Amino acid sequence: MLRLTHKWLEQEVDAIKNQGLYRQLRTISPSSRSKKSYIDGKENIMASSNNYLGLAGDKRLTDEAVTIMKEYGVGSTGSRLTTGNTIWHEKLEQRIAEFKNEEAALVFSSGYLANIGVISSLAGSEDIILSDQFNHASIIDGCRLSKAKTSVYRHTDMEDLEVKLIHNQHFRRRFIVTDGVFSMDGNIAPLREIKVLAEKYDAYIIVDDAHATGVIGKNGRGTADHFDVPVDVTVGTFSKAIGTEGGFVAGSRPLIDYLRNRARSFIFQTALPPGIMAATIKAIDIIESTPELQSHLQHLIHLIRTELLDYGFDIRGEHTPILPVIIGESEKSMYFSKALEKEGIFAPAIRPPSVPNGESRIRMTIMAAHTEQDIQQICKTFYNVGKKLEVI
Ligand SMILES: *Cc1c(COP(=O)(O)O)cnc(C)c1O
Repeated sequence: MLRLTHKWLEQEVDAIKNQGLYRQLRTISPSSRSKKSYIDGKENIMASSNNYLGLAGDKRLTDEAVTIMKEYGVGSTGSRLTTGNTIWHEKLEQRIAEFKNEEAALVFSSGYLANIGVISSLAGSEDIILSDQFNHASIIDGCRLSKAKTSVYRHTDMEDLEVKLIHNQHFRRRFIVTDGVFSMDGNIAPLREIKVLAEKYDAYIIVDDAHATGVIGKNGRGTADHFDVPVDVTVGTFSKAIGTEGGFVAGSRPLIDYLRNRARSFIFQTALPPGIMAATIKAIDIIESTPELQSHLQHLIHLIRTELLDYGFDIRGEHTPILPVIIGESEKSMYFSKALEKEGIFAPAIRPPSVPNGESRIRMTIMAAHTEQDIQQICKTFYNVGKKLEVI
């Protein structure tokens, strides 16, 4: 019997290790749902979770999930188009459409699957996708899966985008795809400018609002609301500020009807558990009725950005919960992260290929569950570690 030999795999892994890019898993305890977490048994202030509003462990959500799970069971038993669809999936889709101010919405099993399904089914071989250089991996994979040509424009560079639009007028359709809030840099896409170009050169806009939903725009409605600019397709996830699990697409009724029939990652995927759908509805209700969550978060973001800039750190981003502190070399960023952890702050280093070479960073995230004291402690620790490692 022929067996996969492992020698070449070991060599590949060694090569990754030699570049200082070897990835390993950390064991996070249930308390990571809140701002304190036990990582490999040690208590830390969590400063890198995507649980921006602190809802992932919220009792109102877990109670709702448990109640519905007791009634409907844990698994959904099939894809949405066969046996997996329930009233909770449908209610959630109505709720998202209302929340996003769109005609309709479609729930996918994750944001990743939503992106690959949307992009690969909308853009065909006669079309072109114009994609921001720093778009999320799931957008890149969606472009790879589609038969369309992909042209990558420099990060948020509108001149470059315009040149590429001008040169590609011969394609049947043009799709501009961008993160709303960029996941590694924390900045917001220039949607007003993108809209002007899209109208001028006849292009559709697809926005990935994974990090924007629940965070920017009125009541957390996202990037389109933040700029008051309508877009053609909004993709999002429940796994960040909303605190649960799953992805979605929101837009026109024909868009959603088309995706339900053509998006392979929707059709060939088992539906999410109904309990999670119900908890997600609860989360959107809470986000809409508690604007204080968003305003407290913005207050903390302002505090920490001001302080870290004062200390002389090279920080990126805007007023979003993602706060990248640029360290430079990947090994140094690993040391930095380890030193933070020793002092009780959990914020891992992000290294290539997730970010460009020489731009390794600590990707910190702020949560509404943090207090001003937590922020002070984080800043103090950053200062001490930054001095010690000569980053500032
Ligand atoms: C996290 C993320 C996704 C994927 O969402 P999941 O629900 O975790 O699969 C997609 N796009 C962006 C920009 C993200 O940050």
